[in-house]
Amino acid sequence: NSVFSHVVRAPEDPILGVTVAYNKDPSPVKLNLGVGAYRTDEGKPLVLNVVRKAEQQLVNDRSRVKEYLPITGLADFNKLSAKLIFGADSPAIQENRVTTVQCLSGTGSLRVGAEFLARHYHQRTICIPQPTWGNHPKVFTLAGLSVKTYRYYDPATRGLNFQGLLEDLGSAPSGAIVLLHACAHNPTGVDPTPQQWENIRQLIRSKGLLPFFDSAYQGFASGSLDSDAQPVRMFVADGGELLVAQSYAKNMGLYGERVGALSIVCRNADVAGRVESQLKLVIRPMYSNPPIHGASIVAVILKDRNLYNEWTIELKAMADRIISMRRQLFDALRARGTPGDWSHIIKQIGMFTFTGLNSEQVAFMTKEYHIYMTYDGRISMAGLSSKTVPHLADAIHAAVT
Ligand code: PMP
Repeated sequence: NSVFSHVVRAPEDPILGVTVAYNKDPSPVKLNLGVGAYRTDEGKPLVLNVVRKAEQQLVNDRSRVKEYLPITGLADFNKLSAKLIFGADSPAIQENRVTTVQCLSGTGSLRVGAEFLARHYHQRTICIPQPTWGNHPKVFTLAGLSVKTYRYYDPATRGLNFQGLLEDLGSAPSGAIVLLHACAHNPTGVDPTPQQWENIRQLIRSKGLLPFFDSAYQGFASGSLDSDAQPVRMFVADGGELLVAQSYAKNMGLYGERVGALSIVCRNADVAGRVESQLKLVIRPMYSNPPIHGASIVAVILKDRNLYNEWTIELKAMADRIISMRRQLFDALRARGTPGDWSHIIKQIGMFTFTGLNSEQVAFMTKEYHIYMTYDGRISMAGLSSKTVPHLADAIHAAVT
């Protein structure tokens, strides 16, 4: 008899479980629009050309060894990552009041940041948008924070519930941490306008709340790395403190390499140094130090002007393909005379469309059309191609009529 015989089977992860179900389906027309991973118009995973080139350089360089990185990761990678999100001329960087540590992609960066806050910040409450990426509440709760939600999405308009957001942040506990999606909000595809961001910033600063940005899609929303970083830079420009978790999964296509960074912008260099010393105490017992390969790829690309420019072009091409999928899907529904207003498909931003389809409609589309997506009606536009748009449009049409 096993000492584990009492262990009950856990449910599949709501997002990654979609892929598990998809893999089991023998249908030739099956379509996986669950997980947010970019596909080419041929439906294939994409390794960026610049990534291939950077890897080639790494392989050719015989002086490269496989020694441990420091607890905080690759120094060049950290510096360049901070520059990427805050901007080359960021005063916070020049004043040495930013500490950046390499972490295991976006998720690991969120977790390390949250563990640090749970130990060293006076307020344990973190306010996250409703809805948000399904892993957020689990990451923060397990790190020792207490999760509250703020209103974000309005199903009636399929847009931002700006009034509700301001009210909820306005009545948040004093000093509460506020999780903000830097751009391309997941799952809704709804981002505040620059003016709304400015109002949110003023409210957060006036109430003494602490912003924690999740930047998983820099460059993927608009196609421009700088535009997508504007909300973060706005908060840095006012001199206040904040955290940012960066991921290179989507914008460099480095999903499985698990490359990301946590930056904490502090009031001054002295605080930043002490904060970094404590981040090391968080990281060391969790995984000791981060892996070297993916961060080296990123550092090679960010350091070299030509590779960097090539990257921005490839990134823009991915963003543009997603935007064109929105247009194609919207046109296909219109051509079918599908009832309802589908303009949110072209208005929403980033990798996902929050379709408004309910869980029964999603179940119907999976059963009858072999289309796999999360039950909240979110579809990954990046998983769609010109060839599969008609099939998806047929399925949506059948589901709502
Ligand atoms: N935050 C958000 C909002 C995301 O959508 C994702 C990826 N789905 C992540 C963080 C983290 O992804 P990763 O750990 O792969 O970088």
